[in-house]
Amino acid sequence: MPMPDLSSRHALLSERIQAACKAAQREPNSVELLAVSKTKPPGLITEAVALGMTQFGENYLQEAVEKIQHLEQLSLAWHFIGRIQSNKCKTIANAFSWVQTLDRSKVAQRLNQFRTVAEPLNVLIQVNLDDDPNKGGVDKQNAEHLLEQVLALPNLAPRGLMTILAKSTDSRVGYQSVAQLHDDLYKKYASDLPQWDTLSMGMSADIEAAINAGATMIRVGTDLFGARTI
Ligand SMILES: *Cc1c(COP(=O)(O)O)cnc(C)c1O
Repeated sequence: MPMPDLSSRHALLSERIQAACKAAQREPNSVELLAVSKTKPPGLITEAVALGMTQFGENYLQEAVEKIQHLEQLSLAWHFIGRIQSNKCKTIANAFSWVQTLDRSKVAQRLNQFRTVAEPLNVLIQVNLDDDPNKGGVDKQNAEHLLEQVLALPNLAPRGLMTILAKSTDSRVGYQSVAQLHDDLYKKYASDLPQWDTLSMGMSADIEAAINAGATMIRVGTDLFGARTI
């Protein structure tokens, strides 16, 4: 049985998502939930699966690999959302089906080189809109360069953009700007991009602004699993 905490938080979150879709005149099912399970135990993930969640985001590789192995039978989609060290690319390339934090060509090449799973690795280019030195990501110009490089790599499937905004950035303005870039890149490269369908933006505090700007995937940890103590 799911913990009452998790099921009531999930119900509240689902209501927020529905309300935000309605306010933005979007289809209620046009936004996917990525459950950010970093620091949370496998038992809690199993409970989330019982509530219908299938996509999970992890930041810390060692911890993630243990959980992925532990929950192998459940056929979940695992998304890597942490900073990527290039010496970890071999593990990341095969343990996950998505990498949302791609921000440099060397890492793209290594993920491509090491991916041995038959299906390509889905990747999102991380955009650092506010040039915040505390997080990864490329600026708008470099997003296009990086996309061109990814297009030449057969084991990577570019699916869209991901962003984390600085606290000081107005979230409506910031998310709209990344959504615009997502559209502009699609217009320019449409014939090479059969599946450019994902815009991953919005976390616990600001999913409404992200959904309003066109997010197709929100990444929620705290408002789903509770505060992280570590
Ligand atoms: C931790 C994390 C989240 C979830 O943040 P919450 O505020 O706990 O919802 C989303 N995206 C990334 C990249 C994260 O590292």
